Amino acid sequence: MLSAKLLKQCALEAGADAVAIGPVSRYEGAPKQFDVRYILPGCKSVIGLAFRHLRGVFRGIEEGTFFSNYSGVAYASINCMRQPMVLREICKWVEDQGYDTVPIPNHFGWVATNTSGQLPHGQEQVPTPGVSRPLREGLPCPNLSVHMRLGAVISGLGEMGWSKMFLTKEFGPRQRIALLLTDAEFDYDPIVKPGTICDRCKLCAKACSGNAIPTDDSKVVRVVIDGVPIEWADLDYTVCSRYFCGASPQHNPFVVTAEDREKFAEPVGRSQQYKLPPQYFYSRALEGAAGCIRACMMHLEQTGRINNTFEKSFRRKPSWRMPTGQDTQP
Ligand code: SF4
Repeated sequence: MLSAKLLKQCALEAGADAVAIGPVSRYEGAPKQFDVRYILPGCKSVIGLAFRHLRGVFRGIEEGTFFSNYSGVAYASINCMRQPMVLREICKWVEDQGYDTVPIPNHFGWVATNTSGQLPHGQEQVPTPGVSRPLREGLPCPNLSVHMRLGAVISGLGEMGWSKMFLTKEFGPRQRIALLLTDAEFDYDPIVKPGTICDRCKLCAKACSGNAIPTDDSKVVRVVIDGVPIEWADLDYTVCSRYFCGASPQHNPFVVTAEDREKFAEPVGRSQQYKLPPQYFYSRALEGAAGCIRACMMHLEQTGRINNTFEKSFRRKPSWRMPTGQDTQP
């Protein structure tokens, strides 16, 4: 058994902002396509790592003046640069102790199942025909779909918010998640009890520019992990994928012409190529996560439910909206 204390020290020194370790036995009962135990034979532990978004990357969007930071300095560069580099350092430490590792940063898009949310809940665990086939009967189709947020729940890093954002006690919704699998064993963290951070205030739903998050308590997705029921809102992913890219002209000052209105309302793959060039392959988060990060973060700060706090509150004047009816030119 390895020391959880030393592993966590290594992870924090390497650049992670929070870390927790859970046993992979918590995957028992998971759909085969989502069960990470198929990735590493003899896997014993899943390590969840949080990489925080600086609060400052949302400042320009909050003020309505500078929109590139969240996509570039936060989302994309954390996924594509910071996570792989930090994971490498932690994996080196674990492998130097004689154990196998599998680093999983948060930018592996290609999977055999539809995890983009375009299918009704329940069907996303079914392999998409024609993408790949299992090596033999009984195995999942490559690539396995690693559910980053539920992996982080299993590690004990935090909980699922009503918004489906992963919340930690340190930063609330303000982070990206990476996972690390290993056949080393540790003393494990408990699963964070649902409701520890998210109080179901539903401010995430009220501030979402696309109304993608329902407020109705009956519209939930529910899974059970290690006997613990985990629930979150059953989002409209099609709406989410368009509106977080700027589909609402009232929340997107780059909508100037009628063509802009049409292009920013296109599906995510096309809209993120439009007008503002991608930063590290990514440019789309123009809405600045108005509900699922900004509203949630402000609520958790104000109610003292997270630890990373500031001298001044994040919002210092009423949130802005572009004037209706004057948002396009002929
Ligand atoms: S805004 Fe409120 S309901 Fe939504 S995820 Fe955050 S704490 Fe939960």
